[in-house]
This record gives sequence, C-alpha cells and structure tokens, in this order.
Amino acid sequence: MAAVQLSGIFKRYGDTQVVHGIDLDIDDGEFVVLVGPSGCGKSTLMRMVAGLEEISGGDLLIGGTRANALPPQQRNISMVFQSYALYPHLTVYDNIAFGPKIRRESSASFKPRIDAAAKMLNLSGYLDRLPRALSGGQRQRVAMGRAVVREPSLFLFDEPLSNLDAKLRVQMRTEIKALHQRLKNTVIYVTHDQIEAMTMADRIVVMNAGRIEQIGRPLELYDRPANLFVASFLGSPSMNFAEGTIVNRSQGHGLALKLADGSEVALEGAPASATPGAKVTLGVRPEHIEITTQIPDAELEVEVVEPTGAETHLYGKIGGTTWCATTRERAKIEPGQRVALRLPAEHIHLFDTESGRRLV
Ligand code: ADP
Repeated sequence: MAAVQLSGIFKRYGDTQVVHGIDLDIDDGEFVVLVGPSGCGKSTLMRMVAGLEEISGGDLLIGGTRANALPPQQRNISMVFQSYALYPHLTVYDNIAFGPKIRRESSASFKPRIDAAAKMLNLSGYLDRLPRALSGGQRQRVAMGRAVVREPSLFLFDEPLSNLDAKLRVQMRTEIKALHQRLKNTVIYVTHDQIEAMTMADRIVVMNAGRIEQIGRPLELYDRPANLFVASFLGSPSMNFAEGTIVNRSQGHGLALKLADGSEVALEGAPASATPGAKVTLGVRPEHIEITTQIPDAELEVEVVEPTGAETHLYGKIGGTTWCATTRERAKIEPGQRVALRLPAEHIHLFDTESGRRLV
C-alpha cells in the first residue's frame, strides 16, 4: 500500500513542455482517475509515476519516499495497459506466473497467489488455455491477474478498457472496481472516458493541456464544476450552454440572460455576483430542464426527438445554440414544435464567459 504525492511535477520534451506543474496528493488505498481529452498529458503523468518517463522537474513521493530517480522495478508498481501484452505462446497460468518466475520465486511461494488471483478474476477454468483461445475480456483479466500477483503497493491502469466492446467495457468497469474494493490498494487509472471516471473513481482529476482543471469526488465535480471545461467534459449528453449578458428582465421581475439573438432566458436564482452588464455563460444539464405549462424561462424549438427507451432527448435551438432537454416522460412531442421550459434555479450554473470560472 502506498500514498503518492506529486508536487510541481512537469515534463518537457526538448523545448516543448507538455505537463505544467502538477500538484496531487493520493491517499493510500484511494482509486484516483486521471481523465481528460486525448493529448492532455495524462499518460505522460502516469508514465512518470511508473518510471517509464523521466521527470523533468518537481517531486514524486511513493509511500513517503522520493522516487524521481528510482528505476521502475524498485517502485513496487504494477501497470495494466490498453494492449494486454500477453505472451501468445504461454498459457494463462504461465502468463500470470511470468513475473514471479523471472524473479526466480519458488513455485510453492507463488502458486497460491496465482490460484487466488485466478479465482478472484474468474479465470480458474482457463489456466491451461493460450491467450488466442480467450475472449477480449478474459485476456484483459489475465493482464490484471499478472498485475495482481505482484502484490504491488500501487496499481497503474492506462486506458485498460479501450479495446473492448461497449458491453464488455461496462462489465470490466464493475470488475475492476470490485477488485479494488477487495484488495484496497492505491490505484491511478487513466482514461479519456468521462463515464469510466464517474463510475469508478473515489476522486477524479480532470486534466486539460497539461494542467489540472479540478480535483474532487465524481458527484462534486458533476454538481459544481469549477469552470466551463469541467462542466462540458463531464456528463452525457453534455451540459447546455448559452452565452449572453445579464440584464433586468424586460417583462416581469428579476434578472435574465440576454442572448446574441436578442432572446431572453429568465434567471430565477442568479447569484449576487451576476450583476446587469456581466458577460456570463449559463449552463444547465439536460436532465435538469423541465417542460412546463407555466410561464417559461426559455423556449426550445424542437428539431430532433431521440427516444432511448428510459428517457427521451429533445434537441433544438436556444439563442442559436443547440440544446438538449431530457425527459423521462413519453410526451408526444414532434419536431417543429415549440416547448416551454423551466430552468430550475437550483440547477443553474453560471460561468464568467471570459475566464470560464464558475461564479458562486
Ligand atoms: P494523453 O495520455 O492525455 O492522451 P499524452 O500524455 O500521451 O496525452 O501526451 C501529452 C502531450 O505530450 C501530447 O501533446 C503529445 O503529443 C506529447 N508527447 C507525448 N510523448 C511525446 C514524446 N515522446 N515526444 C514529444 N512529445 C510527446
């Protein structure tokens, strides 16, 4: 088991800096997911923790010990990659036993560990098979088995589910989480998939362009994103946005957001910091929008109706931007119809348009 501390970690390739001063404290036993778009530096950061990439500056502590210069094999880490990297000519058993064998451990010492890992990962019936006779999910489990028998203090996962089909990905997500709950080891997990991050993490680290945008528990980030980047990155369908200027409502009381096309969206619960004249971006998640028969906060001209079974997504324009409203009722709504919407004050997010920062 190990806590991991990164302070001021940066990475340069020649003249190009790709990771800019990362500060992150990971508790012993915590499952932390690094998430962000492709190229944001998450793999580079993880590879620096693993010792596969030199650290250009800053301090890395694993279990309280400075690890910047430690070779990978002395960091007591196991890593699982997107490509399972199994040996095709070795059986499942020998693939899992590869590490202990290389280290010349006696079979008596490692066999119980392999049997336990195989049982935990539902591989006991497959130990004599070659990887080519396994499904994608089983191969990924063998790769995890190999990582588990090392009994590392720290697990690193680099997009381990990217090669699996959608159904298997969901299943493996649950299995990795269950594995962590049993082993209670420290995990750093890299993905570009916000759903994986939301469902698996104790804490999510959202990265963008080599920097951390926000760190927090999944629902904390979902409910109170610190900026426009995090707001738009987490959630599917993603949060709706409308840029505008705060004005006093032309009809009725209170404030509204005046959009570029001149239309107004009523703001019931605007914070005190949102004063008339301020350029702000309103954000509302699709599932928080309500269809109303009362005086609406906004109107959606429906262009596309997308039923998923459990819910229906209505797509249309508000102030020239495409919005999505999700309803769980099977209302008879047709494209071309105008739908009156309520934007509940408690679910409205406001951001400073220029800085992208959340207004309290
Ligand atoms: P992610 O894992 O978030 O997709 P990476 O960590 O792989 O991102 O890459 C971060 C940035 O570093 C990218 O812009 C990438 O092009 C750059 N990069 C990665 N490896 C190298 C390298 N060996 N030399 C130069 N640039 C690199």
